[in-house]
Amino acid sequence: MDYKKILEEIAIEIEPLRNVGRQADYIPALAKVNPDRFGICITTVSGETIGLGDIDEPFSIQSVTKVFSLSMSLSFLGENLWRRVGKEPSGAAFNSLIQLELDRGIPRNPFINAGAIVLADILMSRLENPEEDYLSFIRQLAGDDSIVYDREVARSEREKGYINAAIANMLKYYGNLDNDIEAVLRFYFLQCSVEMSCRQLSRAFLPFADRASEFSFGNVRLSSSQVKRINAIMQTCGFYNDAGEYSYLVGLPGKSGVGGGIGAVYPQCYAVAAWSPRLNDKGNSVMGMKALELLTTYTNESIF
Ligand code: GLU
Repeated sequence: MDYKKILEEIAIEIEPLRNVGRQADYIPALAKVNPDRFGICITTVSGETIGLGDIDEPFSIQSVTKVFSLSMSLSFLGENLWRRVGKEPSGAAFNSLIQLELDRGIPRNPFINAGAIVLADILMSRLENPEEDYLSFIRQLAGDDSIVYDREVARSEREKGYINAAIANMLKYYGNLDNDIEAVLRFYFLQCSVEMSCRQLSRAFLPFADRASEFSFGNVRLSSSQVKRINAIMQTCGFYNDAGEYSYLVGLPGKSGVGGGIGAVYPQCYAVAAWSPRLNDKGNSVMGMKALELLTTYTNESIF
């Protein structure tokens, strides 16, 4: 498959979308990002990298981080994890408070904010040095020690994070947070603030595609069956209330973030990361989603 040529065709085809959508501005630091960016990068299981556009520019991975916190939490708790968080698509906004109340403090899945705040709480209880250990896991996944938190983004999100604070308070009320609310929120925002480029993100997602290799990074170990299940949750829950549309159009397990990034995998073959800050009304990158749709259409490679 000539991925390079396909990516070039995709870049031409998505050009008319360059001004469609709006970047997230509810996190003040994200409003400063140049919205006219686009990059896409594939890393194959054989180690080849094929990229196009702004693939080395770091961006805020935001909710893509939830794949990493789920991996750690599942590795530590195994099936007991599902006592504290569900695994059903939410069909609701990523920060829905109503749904959490109806579900009496058990978040619908780990990829909505409520679910990821529970994961942050679990990791705070389990990790000796949560901040360092979390970053170290991501660095190991990507094989790149230059990956860092953007503390300015985390601080800016904490300042305006009214809904996430409400979610954390409701979780605490229902007995689903063990640690101090403020400490959990700060750790959650820090996890979201990790900065990565498309190249780094595609590398970090590769272990989720490459099930022939052992998933073992420091003290985080997952069986191939657990990796398969993380893929399943990406497929059903990775795009909030756009998950059905994303499945229909793209057909690759993936996770998006409001920074405009998407990480996805074509199992056994490659991981791909796309980034463009302008979002649709569900919070997913307009150009990123279209690029992935065209990728699976032109290659005829998807899980379906
Ligand atoms: N930090 C963001 C928030 O909690 C993550 C949301 C996202 O990327 O979808 O609102």
